[in-house]
Amino acid sequence: MQGLMMDYPLTLQHAFHRVTHLFPRKEIVTQTESEPHRYTYADWGRRVMQLAHALKKAGVGDGDRVATFAWNTYRHFELYYAVPCMGAVLHTLNIRLFADQLVYIVNDAADKVMFVDGDLVPIVEKLVDQLPTVQLYVIMGDAPYATGRLRPSIDYETFIADQPTTFTWPDLDENSAAAMCYTSGTTGNPKGVVYSHRSIFLHSMGVGHVEGMALSERDVVFPIVPMFHANAWGFPHAAAFSGSKVVLPGRFSDPLRVARVIEQERVTITAGVPTIWIGLLSLLEKERFDLSTLRAIAAGGSAAPQALIEGLQRHNIPIIHAWGMTETSPLASLSRLRSYQLDLSPDEQFRIRARQGTVIPGVEFRVVDMESGQEVPWDNQTFGELQVRGPWVARAYYKDTESASKFADGWLRTGDVAVVDDDGSIQLVDRTKDLVKSGGEWISSVELEGLIMGHPKVLEACVIGIPHAKWGERPLACVVPKPDALDQVSKEEILDYLRARVAKWWLPDDVVFIEAVPKTSVGKFDKKVLRTQYEMHSL
Ligand code: AMP
Repeated sequence: MQGLMMDYPLTLQHAFHRVTHLFPRKEIVTQTESEPHRYTYADWGRRVMQLAHALKKAGVGDGDRVATFAWNTYRHFELYYAVPCMGAVLHTLNIRLFADQLVYIVNDAADKVMFVDGDLVPIVEKLVDQLPTVQLYVIMGDAPYATGRLRPSIDYETFIADQPTTFTWPDLDENSAAAMCYTSGTTGNPKGVVYSHRSIFLHSMGVGHVEGMALSERDVVFPIVPMFHANAWGFPHAAAFSGSKVVLPGRFSDPLRVARVIEQERVTITAGVPTIWIGLLSLLEKERFDLSTLRAIAAGGSAAPQALIEGLQRHNIPIIHAWGMTETSPLASLSRLRSYQLDLSPDEQFRIRARQGTVIPGVEFRVVDMESGQEVPWDNQTFGELQVRGPWVARAYYKDTESASKFADGWLRTGDVAVVDDDGSIQLVDRTKDLVKSGGEWISSVELEGLIMGHPKVLEACVIGIPHAKWGERPLACVVPKPDALDQVSKEEILDYLRARVAKWWLPDDVVFIEAVPKTSVGKFDKKVLRTQYEMHSL
């Protein structure tokens, strides 16, 4: 017997209609060099429809890829809806990628039109001869930018001016592609993840769910995570579904600007990688801001150290530690105390909050022994590979035939290694490739990093495996001291601190002090760079 409910397509057109009709007066604010740019969802909606007309006129049709090379701004947000709602596919390019990767990605996706922020034009100009599929560049900016080599090109405002402010959206299949995003890919070529309307719709429900980020109309959402990194973790989409006010950082994500924006715009929830929050915490130790409206910082993309969660809590700012991947849209799990954990000691509570936590409704997981393929017991000790599935988890990469094993038997093999406690809460131990294998036993680089970052004189720490004649590999700790502790922290001090906290054989064989941890294009620790640098380091 079949259910008798409507077969209502889950598309972004629904969110667009909802937010423009029910919340037209809510604001969208973008940081600029000077005064922030402000307008309402009503203004935004008219411009989204003008943009859709302009794209159509420029020859963009069903399924065509429209690339963006841009910061988090209101124009980018307009593209987030205009492109998919008219039936095309929004392809957000990571502005920090190396030139050859960008060229590969644009060609792989065969992008037809590219929207480029004015100040980023020089980067694209260098590549333009290698981008044969791009037929039009649209330049976004408030100052006139030289676009000499990008041809043909047009200014965004000119592009949409004079277009009608209403658009009759086409009927779309909910499974049609809405957006795509390439994984940062540490090995081989980057791989395209293609989101459908349905997956974004359901992911937005997951982000908005009370067991997710619990977004409501009362929220003021400030996604610092770039709109080219897994759709800014779904916040721009989910905010429109909820009717939340949106604040966008433009190209400004330094701690001072972040603190001021939170204060001035009365931000309730913001999101970004831990590095941003490490910077904010350092600032808050020196200067006062009224951040009392902030109910949550969503931190993810790499492990949020427990010391960071504790540090921000001292300022009454709760971090929600979340885990996900480009392939999982990305929100898959997050850590929140359960009702029966509320009277645990503060230390136990922080330890729980530093986990990657519980999968959100809609996502299923299992942790599987890397050799036997059997599920590991939920004993919080046995390592295994984390695998997930759900309606917003990728089942394949774009045009890719090599990665079938990544999507074995209906599960995404994440490449993350985890343990599970008896509550079913996940804790990531490492990436499979970052674990340090010493004498046949695994050492978690992530756990060591988290502990070292708890040392009061340490700003950041990155642990890598170094080849070792006897043990195969041994850990090396690369440590960045806090600015006011430069030259005041010693290797012995770090090792003594760890001695009290880890098994003896986990102790790094050496500690080197560095100025900064190299970061990837999406702000994660770039262990590859350190591994190459310290390959010959003698332990
Ligand atoms: P990306 O596709 O660039 O978002 O990268 C996804 C990867 O980032 C995951 O597979 C994890 O290795 C890592 N990651 C994301 N969130 C976390 C987190 N909360 N803790 C530790 N690692 C994380």
